Amino acid sequence: MTTPFLDHIAATLDAIRADGLYKTEREIVTPQSGRIAIAGGDKLRPMLNLCANNYLGLANHPDIVAAAHQALDQDGFGMASVRFICGTQTVHRALERSIANYLGKDDSILFAACFDANGGIFEPLLEADDAIISDSLNHASIIDGVRLSKAKRYRYANSDMDELETRLKEANADGARFKLIVTDGVFSMDGFVANLPAICDLAERYGAMVMVDDCHATGHLGPEGKGTPALTGVGNRVDIVTGTLGKTLGGAMGGFIAAAQPIIDLLRQRARPYLFSNSLAPSIAAGSMKAIEIARKADDRRAQLMRNTARFRDGMTKAGFELLAGDTPIIPVMLHEANRAQAMAQELDRRGVYVAGFFFPVVPKGRARIRTQMSAALSDADIDTAIATFTDAGRSLGML
Ligand SMILES: *Cc1c(COP(=O)(O)O)cnc(C)c1O
Repeated sequence: MTTPFLDHIAATLDAIRADGLYKTEREIVTPQSGRIAIAGGDKLRPMLNLCANNYLGLANHPDIVAAAHQALDQDGFGMASVRFICGTQTVHRALERSIANYLGKDDSILFAACFDANGGIFEPLLEADDAIISDSLNHASIIDGVRLSKAKRYRYANSDMDELETRLKEANADGARFKLIVTDGVFSMDGFVANLPAICDLAERYGAMVMVDDCHATGHLGPEGKGTPALTGVGNRVDIVTGTLGKTLGGAMGGFIAAAQPIIDLLRQRARPYLFSNSLAPSIAAGSMKAIEIARKADDRRAQLMRNTARFRDGMTKAGFELLAGDTPIIPVMLHEANRAQAMAQELDRRGVYVAGFFFPVVPKGRARIRTQMSAALSDADIDTAIATFTDAGRSLGML
């Protein structure tokens, strides 16, 4: 390796640091949960965790761990193969059927991550004379997936239904053969739900299909945790759902696409991250299947999650913090400037509350925030502690 190249990389890193955008990783020494401990010198520091995607608190559920253990013993550690060569066990097909059944689709297909599901879905399904119409706040993996497809791309401002209609008209004027509207079900930086009823109405009026990435919803939003299509009452008017096993549904890893049979069948033939990447470990597949079984019946956990959400919103508002409006367990605390968000995150860390600050380029300039996420693994008392700690930190920084 040449010194000039390494110097160039080091200069880039310096620039990231100088902009205050350098991300460091704290090491957690416990399983993922509402209360965790991180390594801090020679001691462990207990922390209240307000930034995991562990919405139902299933990441360390004993029955899921047991199901994974059993599969480890019965099916082995790894598959050492892609699915179509020799990487499909009974557990993989069982999990795909269980996802499809859960979401009311014909079938589903597994990927190593939802990043791969979104990265691999567009290119095989749509061609140069087709159109993809995508929300401007969609997840990075959708943006990358759309780039890999030859279809014509159209973008509408976040949740702007007038602009979506304009783009649909443009796509028609451009002679699009098939049109696919793509949206996140929950916008992860803001925590609000896509306007699926309006999107489905427009889709039907203009003859488009609808795809929803429901990573921040499957398992905890809507009846039985069936996600934003169920929550908003549009159900099967959404044609394609992509999602993750790495958040609510046990939080291990893996992604999926659920849709009509021919779509899934073609993806098995053509989706590149499926064809050229290893099969999920059997223990993860079995644990995720148990997670779905638990999530479907977890009305008690969903109720705790929603209670925590309401309690935290209420307490933080009363304490004088500015929150983004919404009703999902993602609650952004707005600090506006990156340095304020960082100072707040540091102060909270010192006081035993684990959060992450988000600033440009993840969110627009001047819109820096601490994104908190509620979890059923947190008790009412934990929420009160979190509010009190935020308040103390805010006062000590002169922000309240
Ligand atoms: C987390 C997330 C992904 C990526 O999921 P992984 O399974 O972790 O790769 C994709 N889309 C959205 C909206 C997400 O929130």
